Amino acid sequence: MTDRRRRVLLKLSGEAFGGGSLGVNPDVVSAIAKEIAAATTDPDESQRVEVAVVVGGGNFFRGAELSQRGMDRGRADYMGMLGTVMNALALQDFLEQAGAATRVQSAIQMTQVAEPYIPLRAERHLEKGRVVIFGAGAGLPYFSTDTVSAQRALEIGADEVLVAKNGVDGVYTADPRVDPTATKIDAISYQEALQQGLKVVDSTAFSLCMDNRMPMHVFGMEPAGNVTAAVRGERLGTLVTA
Ligand code: UDP
Repeated sequence: MTDRRRRVLLKLSGEAFGGGSLGVNPDVVSAIAKEIAAATTDPDESQRVEVAVVVGGGNFFRGAELSQRGMDRGRADYMGMLGTVMNALALQDFLEQAGAATRVQSAIQMTQVAEPYIPLRAERHLEKGRVVIFGAGAGLPYFSTDTVSAQRALEIGADEVLVAKNGVDGVYTADPRVDPTATKIDAISYQEALQQGLKVVDSTAFSLCMDNRMPMHVFGMEPAGNVTAAVRGERLGTLVTA
């Protein structure tokens, strides 16, 4: 039997791509791409990691926010999903520039820019060392890219979900930006995280991982090098398990 490579599903928020503002900040996306490429193109082949990415779209639109301002929720959510595809293409570009082979798979059909979501094909790409970027979320309104990260991780048989955060380096007892007494948690169960109402990812994503025993590592994207380290399996932030 051949040794199976480590396979991870990396969730990147749209907020990170925008560098805090609307649209894509090329410097930020380029830096993230280089960190991913370092782990997928390691000169030592035995150290290479198979990486699939789910990208968010919060730097463009969030359906819930648009619907609060009067838009139909379903249509607003589709706008949100289309935003994730723009982020997927930006990441693809910078990954290719960094020397990584890539494929984008979209949950909404748009064959000129992305393959359709075909899980077995995604797995084949990963085996060949390509980074697979999943765009357009689940293709379903009322879902989030957090939930899709859990679902894709399960379907492609990832070892864990890596949730990269900006501005925070793990799961805290409360929001550290609001509550100065908040402390960082090294390890927690999904049950506890749900009971304590910790809003690291949404509850649907937590439940899906809990029910299917998929571990989640929540870590900070700063300082530089953290994304590569987390992809390679280093524990940096909080481990959430069933
Ligand atoms: N979205 C959706 N279904 C999905 C994934 C995303 O409707 O399966 C929409 C939803 O409106 C969401 C937006 O796309 O607000 C952007 O995704 P998300 O908020 O998860 O991005 P992030 O916060 O990670 O940047």
